[in-house]
Amino acid sequence: MSEKIFKLNEKIEKIFTFKRTLCVMLICISINWICSFADKLISFEDKPYPEEQYVEINGVPVYFEEEYPVEKLTYILSKVPNSLLKTISSLNIVNRIDSDPTANGLTDFRYLPFNKANQKIDIYIDSNRNKIGMGNTVHHEIGHVLDSSEEAYRYSSSPEWKYISKSEWSNDGYYSSPSESFAEAVSRYYSGELLEENKTQSYQYIDLILKNIK
Ligand SMILES: [Zn+2]
Repeated sequence: MSEKIFKLNEKIEKIFTFKRTLCVMLICISINWICSFADKLISFEDKPYPEEQYVEINGVPVYFEEEYPVEKLTYILSKVPNSLLKTISSLNIVNRIDSDPTANGLTDFRYLPFNKANQKIDIYIDSNRNKIGMGNTVHHEIGHVLDSSEEAYRYSSSPEWKYISKSEWSNDGYYSSPSESFAEAVSRYYSGELLEENKTQSYQYIDLILKNIK
C-alpha cells in the first residue's frame, strides 16, 4: 500500500514538475516576444530611414536598396522645378552601381526609336560613396536629366555651352567635358559654388534655363 502511495506521489510530482517547466517556458517566450515588440517600436521611432523600400517624393518614384533619410532627399528634390522632376522615371538609392563601381551616381536615359513618349530616365545614387555630399550628386545627375529630357545633350552640345565649358571648366579634370561640366554646373548652381568659384557665365546660362522651365 505504502509503495503504491509512493508511486502515486512520484507521478503527481512529475506532472507538477512538467507543468512548472511548461509555465517557465511560456513566461520566457512571452517576455522574449514583448521585448522584441518593444524593440521594434523603439527602433522604428529612432530610425530616420524609410521602413518601406519604395516612396514617392515630390512625384519622383524613389527605390531604396540602402537606408537613407527621406527628409534630406525631400529637401534636395524640393529645390528642383517640378516639371523637371516629372521626367525622372526612377531614383534609386543603391549600395553599389554595378556598371561603374567607382561612380557616385549614374543617369541612364534611353529613347525608344521614333517615340519620345517611351523615354526612360533612371537615376542611380551610390549611398556608400555619398555619406556626406549626397545633395551634390543628386543635383549633378538631375543636371544630366535636364540636359537629356527633351533630346540627348540638348544644352551641353550647344555652341554657347561648349564655349562656356572651355573657358570655365577646362581645368576641372573629370568635369572638363561639355556634358559633365553642364551637369556639375547644375549641381554647383544649387549649392552656390558657381558664384563662389566665379563661374559667372555658367551661372547665367543655368539660371536662364532653370528660370524658364519653372
Ligand atoms: Zn556626370
